[in-house]
Amino acid sequence: MKVLVINAGSSSLKYQLYDMRGETVLASGRVERIGMDSSIVTHEPADKPEVRSVSEILDHVTAVKRVTDMLTDAEHGVIAQLSEIQAVGHRVVHGGEAFSSSVLVTSEVKLEIRKLFDLAPLHNPAHMMGIAAVEANMPGVPQAVVFDTAFHQTMPQSSYLYPIPKVLYRRHQIRRYGFHGTSHSYVSDQAAVYLGKPLESLKMVTCHIGNGASCTAILDGKSFDTSMGMTPLEGLMMGTRSGDLDPAIVPFVMNKEELTLNEVNSMLNKHSGMLAISGISSDMREVTEAMNDGDASAKLAFDMYVYRVKKYIGAYAAAMNGLDTLVFTAGVGENSVALRQAVCEGISFLGIELDAERNALRSKEAREISTDASRVKVLVVPTNEELLIARDTYKLVEQAKTPATP
Ligand code: ADP
Repeated sequence: MKVLVINAGSSSLKYQLYDMRGETVLASGRVERIGMDSSIVTHEPADKPEVRSVSEILDHVTAVKRVTDMLTDAEHGVIAQLSEIQAVGHRVVHGGEAFSSSVLVTSEVKLEIRKLFDLAPLHNPAHMMGIAAVEANMPGVPQAVVFDTAFHQTMPQSSYLYPIPKVLYRRHQIRRYGFHGTSHSYVSDQAAVYLGKPLESLKMVTCHIGNGASCTAILDGKSFDTSMGMTPLEGLMMGTRSGDLDPAIVPFVMNKEELTLNEVNSMLNKHSGMLAISGISSDMREVTEAMNDGDASAKLAFDMYVYRVKKYIGAYAAAMNGLDTLVFTAGVGENSVALRQAVCEGISFLGIELDAERNALRSKEAREISTDASRVKVLVVPTNEELLIARDTYKLVEQAKTPATP
């Protein structure tokens, strides 16, 4: 079966086409600047050169049409006809409390996703446009949705409730949901496979550290707590996001600086984090480079960033009453030797012993970077959210084909 994975944003749409026999990627690409006059389509077939075109793409229906045209194109395509794509899987950021696993798209599911527009105003409406665009271009093809929040639905109330009036939870569903769930789920499974142990037997912290960043405590094979909250702003210091701060700062700053709600929101989401402290960049590579050249603000940004990762690992080790596996993933987690070293050296009392040589090795495979003697196993596991979306979609479509046994 061939499965198309789609990640639809408000003005962009990323795609990957998988052949599920062997789980190989046949092609990937993206449409950028949807809704503008010079939209860009970048198409990367696995065995052919990349192609790029600029044209007017005013909506998601046209964007999906361009994608399917590319996939079936005589010169740049990878399939002979569209009917070879037997399922489409979508990334959906917010599944609220309605979804604790991936599901096939039905009219009820679409209604539930719509109900969550308030909680994810930037993401869920765009995902719905992606789903509608596939319906328009590929009628009858089953679609599945895979939620960033679903993996964290196992958190106990003591992890997900905020200590504020309970009526706010009842009225507005204000609670911790957590994000990056697809990634935390994927890398925790991979880590258990690598170690040859059942995931249920491990006390694990997974650190997904990219532009956005979150740590998850995994106990009994399930998400027990996670650092992002009702929105992806809470938790670790990130590229441009503040992460945790005293909530009283918000009204204080609004008052002193005469900022509107939108302005303060934008400050905390887009102009804070590593960018604000370093004054240089939100990109870890540039900050590390400046730090190595002696820039004091870059060093402070790096130190604060590391400090907060350490605090979360320590907190989650305490929350689980133990830790035996620590996993790094995503852009920074997979690539920054300096970050992993700084984090691990500072929490050696937990039983973490980093092997400097293993830490410095580069590989696209899951690997251990702790010493053989280290009580806590430290792993780097490359994440692959698209593959998990393709797998879930494939599974759901296959299950739907099998008649239920009485
Ligand atoms: P996103 O959250 O947007 O998916 P990624 O997971 O791709 O982001 O992570 C992007 C981050 O990874 C950037 O801060 C970038 O600097 C960092 N990164 C990528 N490669 C390296 C590297 N070799 N060393 C340090 N940081 C890196």
